[in-house]
Amino acid sequence: MGSLEIKNFGILGYPVGHSLSPQIYKSAFEAAGFVNYNYIPLQVQAGKLFMAVEALKGLDFRGVNVTIPHKTIISKYLDAIDADALVIGAVNTVVNDGGMLTGYNTDVAGFLSALAEANFLPEDCHAVVLGAGGAARAILWGLCKKRAEYITIGARNPQKAQALANDFLSYGNVESFDWNSDEFKEMLQTADILINTTPLGMFPEIDDMPPVDLKLLPEGALVYDIIYNPAETKLLKTAKELGYPTLNGVSMLLLQAKEAYRLYTGEIPDMKIMEKTLNKILYSK
Ligand code: NAP
Repeated sequence: MGSLEIKNFGILGYPVGHSLSPQIYKSAFEAAGFVNYNYIPLQVQAGKLFMAVEALKGLDFRGVNVTIPHKTIISKYLDAIDADALVIGAVNTVVNDGGMLTGYNTDVAGFLSALAEANFLPEDCHAVVLGAGGAARAILWGLCKKRAEYITIGARNPQKAQALANDFLSYGNVESFDWNSDEFKEMLQTADILINTTPLGMFPEIDDMPPVDLKLLPEGALVYDIIYNPAETKLLKTAKELGYPTLNGVSMLLLQAKEAYRLYTGEIPDMKIMEKTLNKILYSK
């Protein structure tokens, strides 16, 4: 544990000024005694991504996290893509092994570990996923890997939801609906878990929530919102008031960072330090 060796890490995106990653990773590196590990926000415009990726090799970066708008497009500049990232079609972590860049997606591991920590077994469950964007893709793949019995996607854009369902049809029993339809309301009645992957309710729009009648869910269904700011979204507050168990996005965020840290260093970070740093940034205003 610990080292005086210099290693560089960063988060590559546009914009990246708001990213929590620099503080989270820095606190974990410091706690592990990696005193010369740097973690830098790397603001890269879309048209300059190729040059930025090449520079990672020149500057001997050990790894970078990847965020909007580069998660999909970066794949074509990498030397290898891990199996999960390939199915999801998005990379959120790149590791540099002596000039060989490999892309990973740690959101799947983060999502599944968060479910495990909450003692929810996805095997054989009926999961209802709200939204059809990037996070939904990672979550769908996690549910398929764990052999969820049935997966229902509900979204405002039925065409997009259908395209997403089609992409995963060969991996699981996936169907999509307009979330305002009667068919979708019927599906809610047999859900074991409802997962919000839309940004509805995220700070600063904290009075928003997806247009779902939570009362239709069976008793005991887990209401999971992957938003982490605020810690309790309107969706979760409403679910709690109705007596449903709830889970927010903090554990997924921390556990996907844990997986990226492991890929970078081969070690497990001090999760308490990471969590403390996150709480300090987000909730102690
Ligand atoms: P994304 O790719 O932009 O997808 C967002 C999805 O939400 C799309 O299906 C979009 O629908 C839908 N949506 C957006 N605004 C909406 C609105 N006003 N009404 C209805 N639907 C709306 O984003 P993402 O990367 O999947 O991220 C989504 C959320 O997950 C964000 O809040 C993000 O912070 C959170 N997240 C959390 C974690 C974690 O570790 N906890 C990890 C990843 C993401 P259209 O396609 O119709 O636009």
